[in-house]
Amino acid sequence: MAATLSGKYAEGTCPMVSGGPLTAPYKFSQLHFHWGPDISEGSEHTMECRRLPAELHAVHINSKYPNQEAALQEKDGVVILAYLFVPGQANAALQEFVKDLPHINKVHSAFRVIPRPVGPLVPQFTKDYFTYWGAVTSPSCSHLIQWLVFREPIELSPDQVSLLLPICLFSPPY
Ligand SMILES: [Zn+2]
Repeated sequence: MAATLSGKYAEGTCPMVSGGPLTAPYKFSQLHFHWGPDISEGSEHTMECRRLPAELHAVHINSKYPNQEAALQEKDGVVILAYLFVPGQANAALQEFVKDLPHINKVHSAFRVIPRPVGPLVPQFTKDYFTYWGAVTSPSCSHLIQWLVFREPIELSPDQVSLLLPICLFSPPY
């Protein structure tokens, strides 16, 4: 299950990531959350061999490519920043997103949210992270994606988890 948040940016204002293992600046394309039917499964990655309740993927594309579709065709086209969530304190940045979820409780439904910065949802990688190259296979082809996984899980409250769980949406391919 997942929900996607994307935005439109004026020329030169799109959020970017760079540095570390990245050989070029990558511009923000979209972010989406994965979660499962209950709190014991939802994250795509595991931590110490167990799944966590939810995971955020922030998809960025190499700034030399015009869009995500074009970038997916290239081996240096797509970088995904991944953040895992653990039960804990309420997450103020996530609350703005969670409260909009009831508007998109059907597959392929969409809702226009109040414009807001994505930065608070996607913390800077100031500590350790994992990185690897992963292949994502769709019915027509295979795409290569570089993953950067934040080592330290982000807290969200049990109430926020419970808002995610009843909503059953589609799963993206990555
Ligand atoms: Zn994903």
